[in-house]
Amino acid sequence: MIGETLIYWYERNKRDLPWRNIKNPYYIWVSEIILQQTRVIQGIEYYRNFVEKFPDIFSLAQADIDEVLKTWQGLGYYSRARHMHAAAKHIVEKCSGNFPNTYSDLLKIKGIGDYTAAAVASFAFGEAVPAIDGNVNRVITRLYDIREPVDTLKGKQQVRHWAEKTMVTSSPGTYNQAVMEFGALQCVPRNVHCGECILRTSCRAYTAGVVDLLPLKSKTVQIKTRYLHYLIVRNNGDVFLQRRGEGDIWNGLYEFPLIETEISGGLEELITTRQWQQWFGKQIPHISHISGEITHQLTHRTLKIRFYEIENCRPAFSEQQIRVKKEHLRRYAVPKVIDNYLKKRMVSGSLWCEG
Ligand code: SF4
Repeated sequence: MIGETLIYWYERNKRDLPWRNIKNPYYIWVSEIILQQTRVIQGIEYYRNFVEKFPDIFSLAQADIDEVLKTWQGLGYYSRARHMHAAAKHIVEKCSGNFPNTYSDLLKIKGIGDYTAAAVASFAFGEAVPAIDGNVNRVITRLYDIREPVDTLKGKQQVRHWAEKTMVTSSPGTYNQAVMEFGALQCVPRNVHCGECILRTSCRAYTAGVVDLLPLKSKTVQIKTRYLHYLIVRNNGDVFLQRRGEGDIWNGLYEFPLIETEISGGLEELITTRQWQQWFGKQIPHISHISGEITHQLTHRTLKIRFYEIENCRPAFSEQQIRVKKEHLRRYAVPKVIDNYLKKRMVSGSLWCEG
């Protein structure tokens, strides 16, 4: 009954989004990956651009990873784009481009996790498997007053058990979308309007007065602060970039040569580092501009970033730092904070690397 009520609510309250009522598993997959960690409003534009540029699994598989990352630029969590690209290649090479059509076969594709497999299997192929994301966790833990933390095995099992029990097996895709939409619009994290909720008489957390406490989590995430100094080095009108490696934020994106320090500080701190001395020796080049400290917040890290614009200089860079023509700079996918800085400096007319 709760499942049917959720669908009743959904049919009257759902937002009109471009991926609604779509059965094509490729489009569903793209939309679901984009919506992880992204607000819907921002996701709509990226979704449209992405499917316009890569309209099917073949075009995505054939694309260069740099092109994919460039299309993703600004969305964050770039591993999503890399995994999609790898999964598209796999589906084209091993499955002749046919999207796996069951939950268990979808899970075999590297980069497709439990939630995405369930979403694609239920929306595109009508398989009765619950898709459990943060919104669903919240709705189910509250409806059934689940006090086990949702990041523990026991908590996950309980949420899955009740999500399966609530499922409307004749319309699994609509049911899954209904719970997610209900979590996004009605059963929200804070300031919940339970008094206007269609399910309040069935809601155990509401009856017990514990809505604000749920869902519980066992781990509190440690936010670490990192200090990044980007060197925008100009040499005969060119600029240097390097590519970020695996195992860290922004894997695969380009950035300016970077020096990371343990503590906050400006140039005085920077020139004492080994990396600076390796690149510049004991000399201090002509620095035409130093930005203020820019704070950039990621989920588990606070980044404190400064940019140093260095003129007419040829530091002792290695092969890792590549020389790029100023007019080609825009072709490279860079983290949003770098893109924002470049745009700001171009608008003020002070940066030389416009093109
Ligand atoms: S009564 Fe409140 S907590 Fe319960 S389902 Fe409705 S909005 Fe969520």
